[in-house]
Order: sequence, then structure tokens, then C-alpha cells
Amino acid sequence: MYIARSARFWPERPAVLFRDGALSYRALEERSNRLAHALKALGLKRGDRVAVVSPNRPEIVELECALYKAGLVKVALNSRLAPQELADALANAEPIACLAGPEHRAMVDEASREVASLQHRIAFDPAAADADRGWLSYEDLLAGSPDSHFHEEMQPDELAVLHYTSGSTGKLKAAMQTVGNRMASLRKVTMGRMHAGPGDVLLLSGPITHASGMFIQPMLFQGATILLLEGFRPADYLAAIEKHRVTMAFLVPAMIHALLAEPSLRTRDLSSLRLLSYGAAPMSPARIREAWAAFGPVLAQGYGAGETTGGVVGLSIADHASAIEGDRPELLSACGRPLCESDVQVLDDAGHPVSRDAIGEICVRGPDVFAGYWRAPEQTQAALDAHGWLRTGDLARVDDEGYIYIVDRKKEMLVSGGFNIYPSEIESVLAQHPAIYEVCVVGVPDDHWGETVKAVVVLREGASARDEEIMEFCRGRLADFKRPRSVDFVPQLPKNGNGKLSRKDVREHYWRGRERR
Ligand code: AMP
Repeated sequence: MYIARSARFWPERPAVLFRDGALSYRALEERSNRLAHALKALGLKRGDRVAVVSPNRPEIVELECALYKAGLVKVALNSRLAPQELADALANAEPIACLAGPEHRAMVDEASREVASLQHRIAFDPAAADADRGWLSYEDLLAGSPDSHFHEEMQPDELAVLHYTSGSTGKLKAAMQTVGNRMASLRKVTMGRMHAGPGDVLLLSGPITHASGMFIQPMLFQGATILLLEGFRPADYLAAIEKHRVTMAFLVPAMIHALLAEPSLRTRDLSSLRLLSYGAAPMSPARIREAWAAFGPVLAQGYGAGETTGGVVGLSIADHASAIEGDRPELLSACGRPLCESDVQVLDDAGHPVSRDAIGEICVRGPDVFAGYWRAPEQTQAALDAHGWLRTGDLARVDDEGYIYIVDRKKEMLVSGGFNIYPSEIESVLAQHPAIYEVCVVGVPDDHWGETVKAVVVLREGASARDEEIMEFCRGRLADFKRPRSVDFVPQLPKNGNGKLSRKDVREHYWRGRERR
């Protein structure tokens, strides 16, 4: 958003580090100008959508800057989507252009047959651009375009990003994030704990096409450096902190668990770290204490959703300190207190704030709350009430000082390793298996992932199937992280008074004696 300004202030500073290379602020400004010119020359008009699907690479940062310059909408797709999910998302978003690396080109080819809007496929990998198959080369497009400053002023209510998440109906849905939402998020991040400057290095290894991407603009605005890793490997992650003197990092709890189990944790010099921000899923107090002992007083937690354009509630480093070293141990069960920008309250079904220790739903209203779901008015209506409150579906209680404690999720989504998983989506796939009569999918406790997917299956009379066979059935039909990790066979499933499946009872069977926060 502010890349031209940052390139003026810090032209030679590295904006992005990747593998052994560095992209300076000057180069980022020039290359994103070229890309903006190139996309316009291809005929893309303001408000048109551009999809990107790729593991992390610096070109995604260039694209993000170019789209803002040219007034185009980013279609943010998780690079781990299965072929069918990618096809569904593209059909729903109807982008004019799609950019992809070598890993996804065949999937995009396959999907694009059914997406009439998709006129331009652009390959990040130079060797792959193949005019016969309709792929344009990203580098050729840049080389053939001017680097002169490109800027179209966008208004706060214009659409900036379609952020795809799984829908509980089994189909994907996209949160519409406006320019105003992104600006609110930028203000919140830069004025909050990610206040940074030149010399700061933020390490990102989660997909920046997706949630981790919300840190790109705030870091570029502040002249900091983004260190990108293609994927998460615990030993490489720790080595990168030491080598590049990383000062800030964003992780989901499952990644922290993996780092805690990594032997080189004890030998690496991590003294440059001043902030380790985690969130997107619950983390147990015991694990938070372990992480505090291993990394030092640098932990902070965030709570938020795609619908809130990032974190809206935070547990600060000072909160962690008073829980671990002071007399407030209960704070480790909280996800924190509301951050600035939005109004965050725990409301009952009638929309009134709950009294102390009563349970209600976390609701959010304000400039970082999304504009609704793309082409899904019914889902939008269910999520945003008449007074503008976003109903997050997370059930919580709140204490006298405003700390919010999540107790369960109203929606039946489960979160495994930071990824949202919706049981009904997996059930609708499993229901296609010939031997399955009925199935209920629940999250079961797992020390590493928080929870993992279990399918509880009733077989058809006379039919037989093994658990591996059922798990295998989901391969190719669902993203890897959504596939069941275990299967139980039961003679029947519990039903409520109306004869409807009682998922709550199934889940309780596996969570008995454990707290699901
Ligand atoms: P997403 O839209 O993918 O970011 O997912 C949002 C959901 O993740 C929230 O509604 C919560 O259920 C869950 N979540 C996010 N942050 C936290 C947190 N710090 N603790 C517990 N659950 C969280």
C-alpha cells in the first residue's frame, strides 16, 4: 500500500529475504510498478479479481503491492487446497487472471476448464511459461513493462481481498475484506505489538497467500524486512532465526509444539527474538509455560478470524509474565483483551453483554469487520446481525477486567494445527463411500495438533471396510490436513429428540475429562 513511500525512505534496505537472495525496497517498488502496468495492459480493470496459489515466494509480495497500485482484488487461496476445492474456489471467485508456481500449474489447468472468466494464466517459474498451453511468463511480463510509478487511489469501501475459508455447508466461502478493513488491520498491527522499524526482521513460514499475508503491508510500511520460508521445518526455522537475527515471528500452536520437540532448540542462539506471536487455535497453558521457558519472555497471543481481517483480541507479553511469573495463572486460559480499532464483546443470544462468568458469543463490530461473504447473502446474514455485529461462533466468558476466555465453538468447526476444519464437509465426502451408512466427524484431543479429525462410522448392513480404506477414500477429495486421522466403528450414533445426530454427545465421549478451550 505504501511501498513507494518506503522505497523513498529505505531504497537499499531488504524488503524481502528468500533463500539466499534479497529484494530491496527499491526493487520491490520497481517490480510491482511493472506488474501493475502489465496487468492493466492485459486488460484488467479496477475491481477485477486476480487469484494466486503458490507456496511462499517473493513474487507474492510483489503481487500484493501491484494489486493495491492497480485497484485489483486479490483472491487468496490456501496453497494446500485439493484439486476439487481449488476448482470450486476459482469457479466462485471468477478471476480474470491466476498466478501460480510449478506446484499448482496442472491443478489450475484442470480447474480453468470450467472457469470461463479466467483469461490469463501467469507462471512464476520462468522455464514453465509455455505459450502453447496458454501460460504467460511472469518475468517476461515484467521485462516488457515500464517501472514508472503506478498508483490508483482506492476508496475504503472497495473490495481488496477475497479470503477463502471452508464453509460449513461443505463448499468454500470467501470473506470480503475491503480496503478500509485492511487499513484498520494495518493501523492495529503497526500501533500494537508489531510496531517495528528498519532493522526488524519478521519470519513468516505459514502461507502468505493466506492468513500470514496480513503482516506484509504493516512490515513494508515500517521499513522492516520479511524473511520468507517456503514451508515449515523446525530445524530450518530455528537456524533461520539465528542466521538472520530474526526479531519477530508469527506461529500457530502446532508449530510451537514442533519447535519444542526439536533437539537443536537448545543449541541455537535465539537471543535476537523480541516477539513470538501465536494464535489461530487454542494452546494449552502447560505448552505456553514450556514455550516461555524455552524462548524467554517474548510470547504474545492473538485471537481473530478472516472475518475480522486479523487479530481483534490479544494476550500481551506482560499478561504472559503476570500469569507465569506473577499471581494471575488463570490468564493463560484467556485469549486476551480486545485490541484497539474494533468493539469486541461477549453477547447473549438477545445481543446483551453477558454478566461476569456467564457464557455468550464473541461478537465484533468496527472497521476491521469484513463486508460479508462473497456471493453468499444468506451466510452473510447469519454472520452479521442487524446492528453490524459479527457473530464469531466462539463461545466465551469474560472477567471483570475484560479478559476473554474461549470455552467452546458454537459452530462445529474444529481447528487442527491452525487450520479450520468443518465436520460437515468431511461427512459429505465420506457419505459417498459405498460401505458407509452414517458418519459423524469430530475433533479429538491431540497434544501436538490441538485436535485431529476422527470419523465415527456406522457401516451398512453386511458391508465391511477397514479404517485405512476409509482414510484413503478422502485422498484427492479433501486437502490433506482435513483427512481423518482415525476411524472408529460403532453400531449406531446418538440422536437428539428430533432424530438428528447429536455431534455434541459423540464429541463429549472423546473429550471426557479434558478441557477443550
Ligand atoms: P480463521 O477465520 O481461519 O482465522 O479462523 C477463526 C477461528 O479460529 C476463530 O473463530 C476461533 O475459533 C479460532 N481461533 C483463532 N484464534 C484463536 C485463539 N487465539 N485461541 C483459540 N481459538 C482461536
